[in-house]
Amino acid sequence: MVSADSSTRPESVAGAADRFGTPLYLYDEAALEEGCRQVLSMPSAFGLGVRYAMKACPTRALLQLICSQGLDVDASSLAEARRAVRAGVAPDRIMLTGQEVPGGSELEELEELMAGGLVFNAGSLRQLSAAGPVAASLGARIGIRFHPVEGSGANPATNTGAGYSSFGVRIDDLPAAMRLAGRMGVEVGTAHVHIGSGSDPQAWIRNVARSLDIVNEFYPHADTLNLGGGFRVARMPDETPADIGRMGLRASGLFEDFARRTGRRLRMEVEPGTCVVAGSGYLVARVMDVKMSGGGGPRFVVLDGGMESNPRPLLYGSRHPFSLVRGCETVWNEEAREASEEVGTVVVGKCCETGDCFCLDEHGRVAPRRMARARPGDLLAVGGCGAYCSSMAPSSYNSHLRAPEVLLRTDGSLYLIRRRQRPEELVAGEQVAGMEMVETGV
Ligand SMILES: *Cc1c(COP(=O)(O)O)cnc(C)c1O
Repeated sequence: MVSADSSTRPESVAGAADRFGTPLYLYDEAALEEGCRQVLSMPSAFGLGVRYAMKACPTRALLQLICSQGLDVDASSLAEARRAVRAGVAPDRIMLTGQEVPGGSELEELEELMAGGLVFNAGSLRQLSAAGPVAASLGARIGIRFHPVEGSGANPATNTGAGYSSFGVRIDDLPAAMRLAGRMGVEVGTAHVHIGSGSDPQAWIRNVARSLDIVNEFYPHADTLNLGGGFRVARMPDETPADIGRMGLRASGLFEDFARRTGRRLRMEVEPGTCVVAGSGYLVARVMDVKMSGGGGPRFVVLDGGMESNPRPLLYGSRHPFSLVRGCETVWNEEAREASEEVGTVVVGKCCETGDCFCLDEHGRVAPRRMARARPGDLLAVGGCGAYCSSMAPSSYNSHLRAPEVLLRTDGSLYLIRRRQRPEELVAGEQVAGMEMVETGV
């Protein structure tokens, strides 16, 4: 079971805030290791490969930690693959699945990475045409991502298998893709599919069955079926996480049936991002202000960190658990409900957007939450912030500085793994329009 613990040690939260200032991201190494263990223990029929979807959080120290646990890497862009290599990940541990069509100097870079063992996974005929000759010249096998018939996600924007989603080669085009690969002399070793993030476990299982049929029909040389990521986590106590153990058992049965029918013992790959890191991360912010506003509206708790550090409530209406820390003590969290809590609190950030709010529903409307009365100076640890927060944050909006990232080691020590952005870095690269630019009419 994957769950996002809504409270971490309050002394660590307070210690990190004292040393590094707020807002900050705090990652709990023990929880991260547990996240890795859970996915690595997923049952499989003929072998399992787990690739961490690094777009969830690509910070170097975390990437290194995750890879040291035995996970390989799913990169979503050439830039991510480059970043993984820079962090010390060997290219042969990376598969690249993106939307970009490589060209120019990118092809040279891709060639170098593929010579080192990176697997290119084509999601369109044009990508296949571009990268195919590189693969052929190296004798490297590639993957082809197909568009599933059905998708599933926690949100319409994270459903990558729906008809309105642009990912992968549609099934009608698979014969042409295979012919093209054949003409280029490239062997397709991996069939790949990803139905969406936060997918329904039932839909995930249906997709396994369907995908095996697709492998049988269109992928004669594949020895691996990569089923993508998207395992659901529970950030809030009322949410239900995906049962990865159960899903693995169901998938194993289907892979075994497939082997009996076809004689092919396929290796299974999965590419989780969220469930590896989400529960290990917190956004720690300080309460700056508490006020009543609007027409007798709710009590607003104003934090020094909001949408510029965690855009997920605004993007997806996602809910994150709160832990209120005063001094070195947790005075309230989602599990330990107390009489002191009040209905009608709305936690907001410091950006000039009504949507800079951690209490939104899936339609983007403000939905007050229950919590104890916060005081200025309190810390709020916002849980479930390990995935798609630091990596997705519009951090410089309102010219706020990108928050630092801190790792809480299993021995209780705190390490700064990314320092706070400096004011001069916010404007680095900007230029004043010069006279000559005006003269030349540019
Ligand atoms: C984003 C993504 C994943 C990871 O999804 P999670 O919901 O974070 O587990 C896996 N595979 C592909 C191709 C993706 O784009």
